[in-house]
Amino acid sequence: MYDYLIQNARVLDGSGAPAFQADVALQGGAIAAVGHLEAASAAHVIDAAGRYLTPGFIDVHRHGDGAIFLPDFGRPELAQGLTTILNGNCGLSLAPVRGAYQEALLQYLAPIVGGLPEGLDVSSLGAYQRQLRAIPLRLNTGMLVGMGTLRACVTGFEDRDLTDEEYYRLHHLLENALADGAAGISLGLGYAPECFYDTDGLIRALAPLRRSGVTVAVHMRQEGDGVVEALREMLTVARALETPVQISHLKAIGKRNWRSAVPEMLALLEDARREGLDITCDVYPYPAGSTQLIHVLPPEFQAGGMEALTAALRDPERRAQMRRRMETAQDFENISLLVGFENIRPTSLQQPKNKRFEGMTVPEIAASQGKDPYDALFDLLASEHCAASMIDTITHEEDVDAIVRAPFAGIISDATYPMGGLMHRRVFGTCTRILETYVRKRGILTLPDAVRKLTRLPADRFGLQGKGRVEAGADADLCLFDLENIHETDTWLAPEQLAQGMDYVFVNGVPAIAEGRFTDARNGRVL
Ligand SMILES: [Zn+2]
Repeated sequence: MYDYLIQNARVLDGSGAPAFQADVALQGGAIAAVGHLEAASAAHVIDAAGRYLTPGFIDVHRHGDGAIFLPDFGRPELAQGLTTILNGNCGLSLAPVRGAYQEALLQYLAPIVGGLPEGLDVSSLGAYQRQLRAIPLRLNTGMLVGMGTLRACVTGFEDRDLTDEEYYRLHHLLENALADGAAGISLGLGYAPECFYDTDGLIRALAPLRRSGVTVAVHMRQEGDGVVEALREMLTVARALETPVQISHLKAIGKRNWRSAVPEMLALLEDARREGLDITCDVYPYPAGSTQLIHVLPPEFQAGGMEALTAALRDPERRAQMRRRMETAQDFENISLLVGFENIRPTSLQQPKNKRFEGMTVPEIAASQGKDPYDALFDLLASEHCAASMIDTITHEEDVDAIVRAPFAGIISDATYPMGGLMHRRVFGTCTRILETYVRKRGILTLPDAVRKLTRLPADRFGLQGKGRVEAGADADLCLFDLENIHETDTWLAPEQLAQGMDYVFVNGVPAIAEGRFTDARNGRVL
């Protein structure tokens, strides 16, 4: 007697193979049998009536480290079929945060990870995971450990080389985090403090990972004019470390890089893979990204953290320096020069007097106050103490399509969880957008391949055992749906809309969605 028997399904097993007709039996949180199970009996029988049954979707790139402690966390994720997520990306994990720079670091992380719940102990990854295990989770959750967070624990946001003793402490923190069960390591080389490494310093910082098999997910040093160089740097790092490397949210920012940098990078990745390097990438299926608003500023002004940056934004001389750099410089990710202020929209502003600016472009904000765009931006950031986010339209759809098609490219959301204000659509719609737009409407991917990119590919990349497959013995994380009913309802101006079309979503053998409705089951595990 099984717990569940799903009869007459079109099974996509996550491998990319075509669908096959089968019954699937679940028992004790695992898949017990796949095949023709007419004689089987079960406590619950579901007639799939030819609908697709796939592994639960996996998003290895979210930023819900703090938000996961909120009571509603997981609903937008489940509605699009996600059963497993990894947080702690882009070098910015919420744990371990400790030492003299703790306050500065938490202030820096808050707009990305959804704040810090009252009383949460984030002094080690082990402590963080223990508290996560103590709350009922809707879906399976794992953590990458951010190298930016580790460096900030050791030296704060200082722009200098580390001493031997500091490398020693950094390696100690890294080894502890791996022992505490990190699912991988993340880098945020475009952000302070990791942007202060040169390539040799970075390789030295990552030395404990050499030949470890631990996957390193990297937000590269540049994603605009310097993006191809930044990829070459990561090929050097991958060669030196001999451990799997995944380029996070591969893209080319800025009109002058569109349709040239991405084809070049995909060719570089193919060559490197042929050479035997274990390097892959992932992509979010939108032309706009989202991160902290401070990342439009030259990164050297972030040395010293948010307090120092806020002071600089209030100092006429330093403002003038910042502005001169932003008007011409190409040696950093100069987003306003690359895409124009008209493509940058500040979001999640905390000060009541600034609320009206949420979702407006920088020139619109400037015009509404009779200011110049630089002054409007600097004043806004200063009055928010730099704790604001943005949604920035940065990439070309053709480039996104090319990466989505690459066989070694996974699909991720890069979902950030700002505290209030306008969210990015990708929090609500990424997997649904892949199925509805990229498979059904535009035919960029076949359904088996899309399902592979949402399941088996990320599971194997990050060593998530038992995930990403429909086969006996695998974890019973499953989605059941009719492709025709999959529908993304979120929009840029009204992003907080749950995706439609999932009839059943099983998490460890228990339906979190049944007959299209949330069951309120909380059967997720900490990975
Ligand atoms: Zn990133």
